[in-house]
Amino acid sequence: MFPKLQFVKLFFVVLTVLSGCAEKIATAPNKPTQDAHLALGNPSGAGTSFENYLLEKPQYSLSYNNYRGTPNWVSWHLSSAWIGDAPRQDNFRADNTLPANFYKVVTTDYTGSGFDRGHNCPSADRTLTAEDNSSTFLMTNMMPQAPNNNQRTWASLESYCRKLVDEGNELYIIMGSYGKGGEGSNGFKQTIANGKITVPNRIWKVIVVLPIGIDDVNRVTTETRVIAVDTPNFNTVNSSWANYRTTVDAIEAKTGYDLLSNVSVAVQAVIEARVDEGPTQ
Ligand code: MN
Ligand code: MN
Repeated sequence: MFPKLQFVKLFFVVLTVLSGCAEKIATAPNKPTQDAHLALGNPSGAGTSFENYLLEKPQYSLSYNNYRGTPNWVSWHLSSAWIGDAPRQDNFRADNTLPANFYKVVTTDYTGSGFDRGHNCPSADRTLTAEDNSSTFLMTNMMPQAPNNNQRTWASLESYCRKLVDEGNELYIIMGSYGKGGEGSNGFKQTIANGKITVPNRIWKVIVVLPIGIDDVNRVTTETRVIAVDTPNFNTVNSSWANYRTTVDAIEAKTGYDLLSNVSVAVQAVIEARVDEGPTQ
C-alpha cells in the first residue's frame, strides 16, 4: 500500500506543476486577447437617455443619439485576436436592439444624400467571424461621411491602426462626430432623411497604443502613444490624416466628454495635452 500512496502523491505534484504552467501560458503577456471596449472609460457617461444611449455589443460599445440618428461615439478594442478571414458582409441594416420609441435608421435613409454610410468601428477591424463582421454594418455604427473623408483620409488612418496591430500592439480606439453640417458629393447639408439624421461637421478619433499585454488600463503611462485626430466632414478634406493631429484635450473641449477617464488623472493630464508626432504609415 505504501509505495502506491507515494505514486498518487507524485501524480498530484506533477498535476499541480503542469496546471501552474498552463495558467502561465494562458496569461502570457504576449498573447493577444479580446478585451473590454470601455476599459478606458465611458466618455459621455452614456446610459438610457434619448441623446446618450449606451449600446454594448460583443464587438464594440457606443453612445447613440436618437436626435442625430448617429452614434455620439463608438469605442472598441483592437488586437490581432479580432482579425481573421471572414469576408466583408456588406449587410447594412437597421439596429432593432434600440428601444421601441427610437427611430431606427435604415440604409435607404442615405440613398442619394451624397454622403457615405461611414462606419465608426470599421468592417476590417472585425473579421474573426462573419457574425463579428456583420455587426459593423448595423446603422447605429454609421454616420453620414463625406466620401473623400471616408475613402481617403479615414481609410488610411484605419489601415495604419491595423498596421500598429501587425507590429505587436493592441489598441483602444474611440471615434465620434460632432457639430452640424458637412459637404458630400451633392453639396453642403445639415441633415439628411428629412431631418432624421444630422450630418456631422467634424469626425474625430483617439487611438491608445499599447504593446500586447494584460491589465491594459494600468499600463497606460505618460509615455504611452496616443493619437488624436479631428477632421472636417467635407469633401475638400486633405487625404493625409496626419494634417489633422490634435490633442485629446481639444476634442474633450469640443465635445464635453471625458476621454480615457479610467486612466489616472495625472497620466491623463500628460497624454491628453500632447500632439502625436509618431509615424503615420
Ligand atoms: Mn490586453
Ligand atoms: Mn480625459
